[in-house]
Amino acid sequence: MTDSKGFSQATRRHFLAGAASLGLTSFLIFLGLASPLATAKAKELTLYTARHYSSDDALYAEFTRKTGIKVNVVSAGDQPLIERLKSEGPASPADVLLLADAARLWAADQEGLFQPLGSNALEKAIPSDLRTTNWVGLTTRARVLVIDPKRVKASDVQGYSDLARPEMKGLVCTRSGSHPYMLSLFGAMLVKDGPEKTEQWMRAVVANLARPPKGGDTDQIRAVASGECALAVSNSYYYARLMRSSKPADQETVSKTQLIWPNQAMAGTHVNVSGGGIVRTAPNVTHARAFLEFLASKDIQAAFAEGNNEWPVVKDVAANNPALEKLGKFKADPMPVAQFAAQQRRAQQLVDKVGWK
Ligand code: FE
Repeated sequence: MTDSKGFSQATRRHFLAGAASLGLTSFLIFLGLASPLATAKAKELTLYTARHYSSDDALYAEFTRKTGIKVNVVSAGDQPLIERLKSEGPASPADVLLLADAARLWAADQEGLFQPLGSNALEKAIPSDLRTTNWVGLTTRARVLVIDPKRVKASDVQGYSDLARPEMKGLVCTRSGSHPYMLSLFGAMLVKDGPEKTEQWMRAVVANLARPPKGGDTDQIRAVASGECALAVSNSYYYARLMRSSKPADQETVSKTQLIWPNQAMAGTHVNVSGGGIVRTAPNVTHARAFLEFLASKDIQAAFAEGNNEWPVVKDVAANNPALEKLGKFKADPMPVAQFAAQQRRAQQLVDKVGWK
C-alpha cells in the first residue's frame, strides 16, 4: 500500500523513526532533500600559521579571488599553534597548519596533527627530499655561518666543524641548542657522523662560546658586528633581511660581517624548510589541499618565498630577491629533511648532556 508520495506505510514508519532520531536537518540531508553544503558555512578554510608577513595576506587574497574560498588566518608562534591544536582536539576549526623548520613539522606529525596530503600536484611540484606523506616544505632556508672577517679568516671557517676548532675559543655565538633550527642541524650531523663524533663536536663548540646562548639568530649576527663574538650560526633569511633593511644600524651590521656557506667542499650547506600540511581533523579537507597546491604553484612560489627571503621549493622557479642574488649560489646538502628532523629527540638529549642551554 502506498500513499500519495509513493511511499509504502512501512517505509513511512521508518522515515518517521529516522526523522525523530536524526534530527530534522540531518534527516533531510539523509533523504537528499537538503544539500550538506547548505548547512555548512560558506566556502572557507582556517589557516593556522607561524608565518606573519604582510605579503602573505596578498597571496591569500589572490587564492580567494581564484577559488572563492575565504581564508581565516590565525597567526601565532609555532609551539603555541601546536599546543592550541592539541587542546582543541577534534573541535578545532583548523584546516591547514604552516610551521617553520622540519623539526617542528616532524614533531607536529608525531603528535598526530596531520593527515596524508593525497595530492598528485604536490608530489609533482615538490622534490621528494623536501616532503613526506603528511607534510611538505614550501620554502627553503640554509643554516649559514656569519663571521667578522677582521677577526676570523674566511678560509678558517669552511664548515660547521670549524666552530669546534681550539682557535675559536671565546669567539662563537649561537642561540639555544634546544631551538629547532639547532636541533635540525645537530640531527643532520647525527645522521652523517654518528652520536659520538657529534657529541664531541658539540662539547667543543660549547667550550668555544663567547657567552651563554641567548636571543634569536639576528642577535647572533649583531653580536658578531658589535665585537661580542666573531663567528655565529644563523638561518640565511635573517642575514638577507638585514641586507634589505633600510635602517643604518642594520646596514652597518652587514658591512661589518660576512656570510659563509658551510660545507661547500663536503656534502653542502644544511638546508631546512618552512612548510605545512592538512590538519587531521580539518573540516574542509578539499579546500585545505587546494590551498597548499596554490602555495606550491609556479605563479605563487617566488612571492611566497620572498616574503621571508627564502628560496622556492619548486624547480624552475627562481627566487626574485636581490639579497639572495647578491649572496650567490651555493651547494645544498641533499639530505632529506625528514631524515634529520627525525633525529631531534636524540639531538635534544645531546644538548642536555653537553649543556648547550
Ligand atoms: Fe626563523
